[in-house]
Amino acid sequence: MSNSISILGLGLMGQALAGSLLDAGHQVTVWNRSAGKGDDLVARGATRAATVAEAVAASPLVIVCVLDYVAVHALLTDVPLDGRVLVNLTNGRPSEARETARLVAGRGGDYLDGGVMAVPQMIGNPGALILYSGSQAAFDGHRDTLGIMAEPRFVGADPGLAPLLDLAMLTGMYGQFAGVLEAVALVASEKVPVVEFTSTLLVPWLNAMASTMPRLAEQIEAGDYSTDVSNLEINRVGAAGLMRAFEEQGVKPDLLLPLKAIIDQRVARGHGTEGLQGLIEELR
Ligand code: NAP
Repeated sequence: MSNSISILGLGLMGQALAGSLLDAGHQVTVWNRSAGKGDDLVARGATRAATVAEAVAASPLVIVCVLDYVAVHALLTDVPLDGRVLVNLTNGRPSEARETARLVAGRGGDYLDGGVMAVPQMIGNPGALILYSGSQAAFDGHRDTLGIMAEPRFVGADPGLAPLLDLAMLTGMYGQFAGVLEAVALVASEKVPVVEFTSTLLVPWLNAMASTMPRLAEQIEAGDYSTDVSNLEINRVGAAGLMRAFEEQGVKPDLLLPLKAIIDQRVARGHGTEGLQGLIEELR
């Protein structure tokens, strides 16, 4: 069955989303603030709307994907949303999602917030995931269409949940990038080939460590900070040695410094026998 979907915002992500829906045979209406984007989508069968209001009027399902929520609110100013499902795939904060849900409800629309866990090239392909929160009815009603862009996963009725989980996943990713960059800089200080190090040693090690994270989460949930591996005192001494090694190798340990500081702080408070998961108490 061919459905009608409107896409507001034709940046890299908006174009990928629209393209996947076109490929699946749906009627796609597109709008972008500035001209010159989406010509290929129009050549492939999309209809270009002259205004946001025209795009919103064209389809019951409206997907917006622009720079930020300030832009989302600006482009929806004075646009009626009666009977529309607005799916906001713009990256933002939980508070912004909740505020946008209220705005959309006030205009007679239904709201889903989404966190895109994919780069544009992954959209429409296996491995792409989009987290949704907000109106369960809107999600259920459009699940098949949403499933064309990426695996759709509904995470709860609170619209703030999808952005919360999205930001948490990005946080994990940034931590991983930070560790990898420091590790590669350290190895490169001795002119060791970094590609071989990364693929044969670092990635298998990180995967082994990643597999222990659910256990760590279980212990955090249970308030269990005991450990049968290296405790925080061992890690405090190890981190101090690591900093000296970085200094001797002429590499800045800046991305690791906050972690060292928090280990030192936790030990100074008398928790040296705990495991690394005890550090969560210093973040609350
Ligand atoms: P992009 O290529 O830089 O495109 C930004 C889009 O936002 C353009 O269509 C731009 O319109 C529009 N825009 C900016 N300010 C606007 C305003 N005031 N009013 C109306 N439209 C405005 O960015 P993108 O990669 O498509 O990203 C869009 C969203 O998806 C972001 O929230 C991003 O975090 C999220 N996301 C992106 C990726 C990724 O890998 N790219 C992955 C996950 C999530 P103009 O063409 O007129 O400038």
